[in-house]
Amino acid sequence: MTEQTRGQCRICGKSFTKPGMARHVRSCRGRLAGTGAADGLLLALEDRYLTSYWLVLEASQATTWDDLDRFLRRIWVECCGHLSSFEHAGVTFAYDVDGAEEWAENPRSMEERIVDTVGAGSRFSYEYDFGTTTELAGRALALVAGASTGAAIDVLARNEPPDHPCAACGRSATSVCALCYQVVDGACWYCDVCSDHHRCSEPDGDYFLPVVNSPRVGLCGYSGPAEG
Ligand SMILES: [Zn+2]
Ligand SMILES: [Zn+2]
Ligand SMILES: [Zn+2]
Ligand SMILES: [Zn+2]
Repeated sequence: MTEQTRGQCRICGKSFTKPGMARHVRSCRGRLAGTGAADGLLLALEDRYLTSYWLVLEASQATTWDDLDRFLRRIWVECCGHLSSFEHAGVTFAYDVDGAEEWAENPRSMEERIVDTVGAGSRFSYEYDFGTTTELAGRALALVAGASTGAAIDVLARNEPPDHPCAACGRSATSVCALCYQVVDGACWYCDVCSDHHRCSEPDGDYFLPVVNSPRVGLCGYSGPAEG
């Protein structure tokens, strides 16, 4: 599912597709006078496969990989406390650096600051849950003068929810059958009415999870963000 989604720039309110937004936000944010002396770093993230899900963020100078991980968990991925890591240029950023020696080439601490690792144009990746993995692709877009709020992460733009028509009636789906989505790769998106008639609904309950605006929709037990 790679529908081209649009999103609204939270600075000026204009709507763009993802590539348009990556270009736009650099100039739109560049025109804003920041509040602090330190620069902000603009970051773009998307699901590696479900590319309709994307975010454009601003990180401050002090923001660590750990801050970004916590943010991504809150807005997009946290279901039951799985492990996660970032990777950039052969270096893995993990919580437990000693433990990560067993599976990563060159592990370092997530406590490192993002600006000390990546510059404008750098790419990085993120994995949440090493079983039913959500994989994100990230890119540092640009440094911008003066942090806009000084918060660890500010959301500058986010995709609008992609459209999932109900497999039976075509109305907007409200739930996804996790079993059909993950295992069978068959019809799995349903509205409230049609989900009652889906074959996985019986006899011992169902596998339905709510449709939420996250690349983790339908995976593990993901039922939505802690915050929107
Ligand atoms: Zn704008
Ligand atoms: Zn989980
Ligand atoms: Zn329906
Ligand atoms: Zn099913």
